[in-house]
Amino acid sequence: MNAGQNIDFKEVGHCGGKITFIFRKDGNGQLLSSIKWASQRPNPAALAGVYALDNGLAVCPLFFAGLGQPWSPPPFQGCVPVIIGSDSEGHFGHKCSNCDRYWRSNPYPNFCPYCGVALQISSCLSDAQKTYVGHYVKTLNDATESALSGLAPNEQKEVEIDLDSVADAVASPEKPDFYLSEESQQKKFHCYRCGHFNDVLGRYAYCSTCGVRNDSQIASEEIEEIRNSINNGGSLSTALRSGVALFDSFIRQFVEQILHLVPMTPRRRNQLGKQAFHDLKFVRESFQDCLDITLCRDMSATDITYAEKMFHRRHLHEHKGSIVDQKYINDSGDTNVRIGQELRETREDVHRFLSILSRMFNNAHEQFNSIIPPADIDKP
Ligand SMILES: [Zn+2]
Ligand SMILES: [Zn+2]
Repeated sequence: MNAGQNIDFKEVGHCGGKITFIFRKDGNGQLLSSIKWASQRPNPAALAGVYALDNGLAVCPLFFAGLGQPWSPPPFQGCVPVIIGSDSEGHFGHKCSNCDRYWRSNPYPNFCPYCGVALQISSCLSDAQKTYVGHYVKTLNDATESALSGLAPNEQKEVEIDLDSVADAVASPEKPDFYLSEESQQKKFHCYRCGHFNDVLGRYAYCSTCGVRNDSQIASEEIEEIRNSINNGGSLSTALRSGVALFDSFIRQFVEQILHLVPMTPRRRNQLGKQAFHDLKFVRESFQDCLDITLCRDMSATDITYAEKMFHRRHLHEHKGSIVDQKYINDSGDTNVRIGQELRETREDVHRFLSILSRMFNNAHEQFNSIIPPADIDKP
């Protein structure tokens, strides 16, 4: 069992706090109102905002400019400003309106980490947040109506939404009328480019803030793990197999995104989409032909031939019990081995192969960015 499974998909409670609507009638009977959020809890907490219609449907983001500064204006009159609290780790759950998948990140994402579509907080509220926005708008509307008719001049009234009870309910089977919590996913990362947090299903994704892929970031972490394993006496042929498996998963998700986002002819689509990614020569040629991506850019012919040979060696380890056969000699051009010999790797060879993989991943990543450029975003 994967040790990481225990920490995947855990419920993360709400940050808590209290939202207070304050109504006051001035001496002329004019109703004034304001909204206050306060929390006494020790856990992290952050706030986001949306403008919603009377029926509770969120229509656009609401930005808080800072203390004493006015909030961003509503898109049209009659929109209700809604404050949404984070989870108790300071993150927000989101659900893409395009692909329906869930993730956690900062309050105001710009992209879906899975399908890459551009979006705003109002178009990716989670199901629980939608229910909460409906409850919030109804509470505020009812309170406003009752203050309009019930308050005398110079009188004040407060109505509260108690999010502490929502936060406390995470540990209890009894839930309040409306309930809001988030769920941790599988891969948590701070984007190498913009620094923002993401927590996604699987491991490869776009950064939901700046839209850059995390693929080269994830791949270099995994290469580091493979290097550590062989430095600590791990099997060299297993490390070689892991390196090729990483190449396969990296290229597979890369191609999936290209096919999803880039229009291309059926011939190219077929060529790219129907291959296994264990044949480096074929992948290199397809990337060049279909995408104008040079996977081995700035690499010597010696390194490329060497990498191709290592892919063939992986095949022998994986499928032939590491025993050399004629096909291996024909495919790899390796003349230093004899049929029937058991292939043995050296640590230096595997490290060299991992360095070449790293360069290919960086090349693919950089050229992907030139096809699908990420957005310019301020660092947190
Ligand atoms: Zn999506
Ligand atoms: Zn980013």
